[in-house]
Amino acid sequence: MDVAGQFAELYGYEADGVFSAPGRVNLIGEYTDFNEGFVLPLALPHTAVAAVARRSDGVLRLHSADIDAPVAELRVDELTPLSPYGQGGWAAYPAGVAWALREAGHDVTGGADVHLASTVPTGAGLSSSAALEVVMALALNDLYELGLTHPELAVIAQRAENDFVGVPCGVMDQMASACATEGHALHLDCRDLSIRQVPFDLAAQGLRLLVVDTRVKHALGDGAYAERRSGCEAGARALGVSHLRDVPYTELPDALEKLTDDTVRDYVRHVVSDDHRVERVIDLLDAGDVRGIGPVLTEGHASLRDDLRISCPELDLVVSTANAAGALGARMTGGGFGGSAVVLVEEVDADAVTKAVVEAFASAGHTPPRVFPAVPSAGARRVA
Ligand code: ADP
Ligand code: MG
Repeated sequence: MDVAGQFAELYGYEADGVFSAPGRVNLIGEYTDFNEGFVLPLALPHTAVAAVARRSDGVLRLHSADIDAPVAELRVDELTPLSPYGQGGWAAYPAGVAWALREAGHDVTGGADVHLASTVPTGAGLSSSAALEVVMALALNDLYELGLTHPELAVIAQRAENDFVGVPCGVMDQMASACATEGHALHLDCRDLSIRQVPFDLAAQGLRLLVVDTRVKHALGDGAYAERRSGCEAGARALGVSHLRDVPYTELPDALEKLTDDTVRDYVRHVVSDDHRVERVIDLLDAGDVRGIGPVLTEGHASLRDDLRISCPELDLVVSTANAAGALGARMTGGGFGGSAVVLVEEVDADAVTKAVVEAFASAGHTPPRVFPAVPSAGARRVA
């Protein structure tokens, strides 16, 4: 049964609309977003789909087909980050969106009934959380006729995750989910949130981008992310700039010499060089040289492994095995310490590379990875 049918069965009446928002995978530009730099994500065909109806009595009912929990019932006017639904539990994500809209002065006080289901793998670095937030933001925007743009909805969704759920993420995931288009990667400038759709037609070139979910669960809340973030802030302070975005790549060697803390120096090297890699990848894609981005991806992985130190043995194994088996390039993607890698391959080599990675995982005694193609897909939209 589809999501609208499940809604009708659950709540006993028909939803007003059905909305969809995808997960994402980041092609290049990692830990650059909170440094106000550049990222280049693409939307996945995997989506969170929500059937939603507007209410008028201030009640918000939330249900997920994927979670074994009863309908969460709360009141929009009682939402606070410290309420039982703030900071914990899946319902904090959609409730946080209603809260963030309310805090931004938008009238969603009537409430809503929500039932959702998602095909985005959770905790795999593919942003199931952003898909959840963005689909909720889009649904409320539409049903309450708030008139917000997709980038504005992404910012609301990020606020929900930062301040209601309590995860200090950048805005990339929500922007990708809200604004990506089919057949493109999304060049996002995280300073002013300007975007450009960069053609990324893999199939036309006989190429495939594989996502390899290592099934190692990341736990970004455990302090490593915050530590990298404050290290980057310390680097910016030491260099006299507001954000590392302001350190030009050509001045990186001078900047590194000025830094006295070894760890901070490594983080700065990663961020400034990864911003530059985003630009290199975009230039290559604009020039139609999709194959040319392979080595840049692999270089990005080395930077994440050696300078930012957020990789793990499974991710390193994907990259080394895939490249040895004939991939054009590969890198871990997302927050690190597990989650997924992306691998660029010739379509004809996709099976052999997949097999090599699966066998390497078996030999190393790791849980079998999940491998699927990242087809650049559409961003959030109303589907019914
Ligand atoms: P990621 O965004 O990388 O998948 P996160 O830890 O940021 O990982 O978000 C995962 C969390 O999002 C889950 O633990 C759950 O609370 C929530 N979530 C994601 N998808 C669903 C879903 N289909 N139903 C309910 N909650 C979901
Ligand atoms: Mg997330």
